[in-house]
Amino acid sequence: MRVLEGLKPERVFYYFEELTRIPHGSGNTDAISEYCVKVAERLGLEHWKDEFNNVTIIKPASVGYEAAPAVIIQGHLDMVNEKTAESSHNFETDPLKLRIVDDWIWATDTTLGGDDGIAIAYALAILEDTSLQHPKLECLFTTEEEVGMEGAVGYDASRLTGKYLLNMDSEEEGIFLTSCAGGIRYHLHLPIRRIESEGNVVTLTLSGLMGGHSGVEIDKGRGNADMLLGYVLNRLAEKFVFGLISVNGGFKDNAIPREASAELMIDAGQCEALKSAVRGLETALQADFAGIEEGLTLTVSEPEERTVAFMHPEDQQKVLFILMQAPNGVQAMSMNIPGLVETSLNLGILSTTETEVNLAFAIRSSVENRRDALGAKLANLITYLGGTYDTAGAYPAWEYRRDSALRELMLQTYRDVYGKEPEIQAIHAGLECGLFGKKIPGLDMISFGPDMRDIHTPQERLCISSVQRVWEYVVEVLRRMK
Ligand SMILES: [Zn+2]
Repeated sequence: MRVLEGLKPERVFYYFEELTRIPHGSGNTDAISEYCVKVAERLGLEHWKDEFNNVTIIKPASVGYEAAPAVIIQGHLDMVNEKTAESSHNFETDPLKLRIVDDWIWATDTTLGGDDGIAIAYALAILEDTSLQHPKLECLFTTEEEVGMEGAVGYDASRLTGKYLLNMDSEEEGIFLTSCAGGIRYHLHLPIRRIESEGNVVTLTLSGLMGGHSGVEIDKGRGNADMLLGYVLNRLAEKFVFGLISVNGGFKDNAIPREASAELMIDAGQCEALKSAVRGLETALQADFAGIEEGLTLTVSEPEERTVAFMHPEDQQKVLFILMQAPNGVQAMSMNIPGLVETSLNLGILSTTETEVNLAFAIRSSVENRRDALGAKLANLITYLGGTYDTAGAYPAWEYRRDSALRELMLQTYRDVYGKEPEIQAIHAGLECGLFGKKIPGLDMISFGPDMRDIHTPQERLCISSVQRVWEYVVEVLRRMK
């Protein structure tokens, strides 16, 4: 029994449901990749699969479209596996449990994988349908998009001939993405020497912040717990002598940290005064973030007599310096697209070992030079302080293209089909388009898709009528690409 039986476009929903029966979380793409290969074999279409499980399927141009440039239709095979706390779903073995509620498809207690299974379903339905008119199609299904885009990074694009790329990995119908941020991670290491001593240790904790995605939520004015902790320590150092033992906060470099704490050794006689200073700072911070961070709290624990090794004063000073001086948050807004953050960074993880304080930053920019310039700034800062750094996970930006024949065609078709004006947007986060733009010089790209809500969560859902409208729209776009 098919849950989606009877929904139109029939073959899109048929393939979508098929995909939800094959477990395909990131890192587990053998079976779904093989499924796509089987479809290509059945349809008698040229295809290949690479070592990353990326699948490419070619469909020749329909009659009369032989002279038109090829079009790449692209989406990713892997999905984010998330389930509710109560769910016993096994993502390695179980098919998703689909259900329809009004105009929406849900998966009971789990993510649905509409992101980005719907793109694969559209492409397979297009490949199968011999009644459609279109140029040569190169359908490209990538892997591990959700965990660093390894499929797209490793993909050999030399066999592709497409001049246009339709990326179907967006979640709002009528909104067309035309640019995305590139990124890089910087890990800074500041060496510390320690002095062993016995004394009063207190823990300072800043908590209750909103946090959020370090790209799309970086412009919401939210507090970064690590940076705020650094600020608090600096203000306390104006009045108190203390020995810093550790600073810690955050788990992911691409999430804004919600909580951070520091351990410090301080004279027993100073503890009451410290408490009152902390209360004053808490009140000031709460006022600073009124209307944004309603849950912000800053507390200090009761002192505890212990033998510990605190940081050498010179090293402690450097730790306080970098937490006060490191750039963080929005650095520049786009001059091309109003409201878009162009360049930002986020201190996501602050951690302390015996011998080092480590800071992990995620930098993003839709202008690659600015991404690199900001990285150079962090490198300069840490090197000056006698520390070291390394970088990881660099991916290119997809820069906004002033002249785009594809964008014009997509927008005009949208107006003609829907009778309303579409929206052009850019996102301050990564898309695979950045990588393809690098691999295929001059590639004209756009990203779009049907309505989805709450992707990457067990509340993920896909809008049925939107899938239908976007199908009709894509078919018409391809028909106009003569
Ligand atoms: Zn996606």
